[in-house]
Amino acid sequence: MKNNPIAFITGYSHERLNVLHRWAGRFCWVQASIHVCLYMYTWERTGSLIIRLLQPDPAFRAGLISWLFFSILFVCSFAFIRRRAYECFFIVHIACAIGAVVSLGWHAPKTYGMVLYLVGGMWVFDRSVRFIRGVHYSKGTKATIYPLPGDAIKVVLNKSATFQPASHGFINIPSLKLFQSHPFTISSADSLEFIIRGQRGFTRKLYDRAVKNPGESLSCYFDGPYGNIPDYRRMNRVILFAGGSGGSFSFAIATDIARNLARCCVESIEFVWVIRERAHTKWFEKEIDELAECPVVNLRIFITGEDSNLINSHPESPVSASAENLRASPPLEGAMDSDIAVDDKPGSSSPICAIDFVSLPEKALQLEINAEEKINTTSTPGRQSSLQGEYFEYGRPDLGSIVKEAVRNARQNDLVAVGACGPTELMRRARNAAADVITPGGPSISLHCEQFGWG
Ligand SMILES: Cc1cc2nc3c(=O)[nH]c(=O)nc-3n(C[C@H](O)[C@H](O)[C@H](O)COP(=O)(O)OP(=O)(O)OC[C@H]3O[C@@H](n4cnc5c(N)ncnc54)[C@H](O)[C@@H]3O)c2cc1C
Repeated sequence: MKNNPIAFITGYSHERLNVLHRWAGRFCWVQASIHVCLYMYTWERTGSLIIRLLQPDPAFRAGLISWLFFSILFVCSFAFIRRRAYECFFIVHIACAIGAVVSLGWHAPKTYGMVLYLVGGMWVFDRSVRFIRGVHYSKGTKATIYPLPGDAIKVVLNKSATFQPASHGFINIPSLKLFQSHPFTISSADSLEFIIRGQRGFTRKLYDRAVKNPGESLSCYFDGPYGNIPDYRRMNRVILFAGGSGGSFSFAIATDIARNLARCCVESIEFVWVIRERAHTKWFEKEIDELAECPVVNLRIFITGEDSNLINSHPESPVSASAENLRASPPLEGAMDSDIAVDDKPGSSSPICAIDFVSLPEKALQLEINAEEKINTTSTPGRQSSLQGEYFEYGRPDLGSIVKEAVRNARQNDLVAVGACGPTELMRRARNAAADVITPGGPSISLHCEQFGWG
């Protein structure tokens, strides 16, 4: 439930309250199971179990049915089912929740009647708000789709909205999947744009469609914006870590600050983006150029899936060398956790100076990438990135030392914000890095980790 009284009172967004939702659900099931087991045990002891089970008492049967619904709900919510078959989980979840609540009302109308009316009312309210908002944002809304390297898609909506940078919204494109609505982070600071990685379901269809008809505009329903992102403009030092499409989160925040520097307290932004291939910089070309120009931003792009030796290897045969190396680079997997290659060692980054990027094999590599892109994808039209080699490093970043360095000269009353979005491992390291620099009498450190999933 996205619009609920607890979110309204606490100010927490629905994805934060998800933890409460889960534990409340588990507690309900355990409590209902104890209730059922105790009754069964007592009837068994008194020898009346079979008679009780066969009795045509609607209240008794409704109770059993309600417990069955709760049990299916409980089992189908296990992470391995949710991750493998999200749509199936979603449909079963809604159907069983309605079934459980209605049959519980039948089972004990006096005890639960009012509570269930209240719960039902809240659910109907949430759906109505989402429907009305959806209709408002969706009248004439078109989503223009562009394929990008690395199985990604850029989606641009022809609507404007007021939102906090890095908020998310739900997109439904009926011509691709009629009843499916998927959450995506708004990747731009001021317009409804999204960078989406193609997975197996809706996003794969979207990618295939974008490759087939680049620049096509499709009718779209948008529900949002949602999310409760800290106000980074108030911070003195901002450290942003992102992996792959998690860049939607950090580019939106950093470009918002860069565009409103005069109105922000921000003195420095340490911006770290980890990607598998250099071609992925096409996802945020415009934003990268903007950040590169911003005086307070230290932009660092780590490439984990390409070998830095590539640049100076095989000088006698540049084209074939780069082509071979390209093919030898680790494959891109669909899973979001694979945005960072596992074979790289933390801190093994090797900075590359700008001059390296004009060497012949690298030019050949660029040609190869461009050729592949021409075949597979069409990038957002109209511009060439002026991206310099000085922003690139190879290998995984050492988040611990980046955070330490960023807060080294921080004053005691400075507000330091660490934000991270990307694979689980990157977020774990960001958490540890932030925790390591918390010292008594040191600057105030806050951490926000944005997850691309419900956990
Ligand atoms: C708040 C939030 C923001 C996100 N922002 C982005 C973004 O900016 N860019 C991006 O590429 N991805 C983002 N994601 C992830 C994106 O929602 C899923 O990758 C997408 O829904 C997968 O759709 P699919 O049908 O192709 O999935 P499938 O191929 O069927 O499954 C792939 C994975 O996505 C999960 N998934 C499927 N449907 C949903 C759903 N409706 N909600 C949540 N998870 C789902 C599955 O459990 C599975 O783990 C975000 C997720 C959340 C929760």
